[in-house]
Amino acid sequence: MNSYKLLTPGPLTTTRTVKEEMLFDRCTWDDEYKSITQKIRSQLLDLAGAEASQYTAVLMQGSGTFAVESVMTSAISDKDKVLIVSNGAYGERIIQMAEYIGLHYAAYRTGYDEHPKEEELRSILNEDQCITHIAMVHCETTTGILNPLDMISGLSREYGKTLIIDAMSSFGGIEIDVAGLGIDYLISSANKCIQGVPGFGFVIASIERLAACQGIARSLSLDLYDQWRGMDKDGKWRYTSPTHVVAAFSKALDELMEEGGVSARFERYRNNNRLLRERMARIGIRAYIAEPVQSPIITTFVFPSDRFSFEQFYAYIKDRGYVIYPGKLTEVDTFRIGNIGEIYEQDIERLCEIIEEYMGVMAQ
Ligand SMILES: *Cc1c(COP(=O)(O)O)cnc(C)c1O
Repeated sequence: MNSYKLLTPGPLTTTRTVKEEMLFDRCTWDDEYKSITQKIRSQLLDLAGAEASQYTAVLMQGSGTFAVESVMTSAISDKDKVLIVSNGAYGERIIQMAEYIGLHYAAYRTGYDEHPKEEELRSILNEDQCITHIAMVHCETTTGILNPLDMISGLSREYGKTLIIDAMSSFGGIEIDVAGLGIDYLISSANKCIQGVPGFGFVIASIERLAACQGIARSLSLDLYDQWRGMDKDGKWRYTSPTHVVAAFSKALDELMEEGGVSARFERYRNNNRLLRERMARIGIRAYIAEPVQSPIITTFVFPSDRFSFEQFYAYIKDRGYVIYPGKLTEVDTFRIGNIGEIYEQDIERLCEIIEEYMGVMAQ
């Protein structure tokens, strides 16, 4: 199999040095191993701008969805009601979780290319006094739209709600002041902007909120409260921890710091994204999300013509060393290009040359 770079929203292309951390098999109850977990937890709090007296970081086995579900099942009791804001497939997934768990919930939906509207959210919050929690996705990876954290966190504070943010594809790549915004639960995973490999997710949680969640979870393995209680003692995970992934993640966090932290990574991603959008526009391929609400993470592009074959396009690009992503919209034919991971300007330039070449061949 020929190797390629991933232009997908995760798993993504990681450094050789991150992958090399996985060449050694570690023991789960060994003190040195447990101290890696503790180091990671404290670095995550730093990235979130959160103090250890107010916030804690809990790691959870599985992909990112498992971590989101662990919050939904552990933090929202049968007496609570959650308002779920959705403008994409990941918002819909949270609604699906609410259905599975049997939570009281209200769904607020907008078009996939639109922001949620403050006035409409206000009227829901004014009318429905039962709402205790609000959940929203930050960067909706479905389209690449970046949802307004300031607005939702302002509303959440004003109305005194518990705020849950799925920041899976943004945390580590976009600065998020978790404490300043008053986010109570922020969820992300190992294989997105921190550039680790897949295998666990994590939750940055307000200690005050999480401490009140004992006995709420309807799932044993996804009980965030219990996971926290166990891990907080000495860094020991409940059940088998993904040792290789943890070691790689620790290295990835160090490399994020070496790059210059979240602000430097944000600049690299933003530059990649700007270049991508500009070059694609010149080629004549239109982005689905308008510039002002576009994230620096992933971009959705509309098929340039009715004759366009994604399969052919994908194979052509893959043969030349890059892998892109299919679209996730029903009404419009689209494809997606991620620009996170070990991806630099040269990669975007090269990709756009390949795409230009393809369009030229197709036009003949
Ligand atoms: C990647 C992602 C998830 C989690 O997906 P998994 O496939 O379970 O890792 C959740 N929400 C968003 C916004 C994502 O980008």
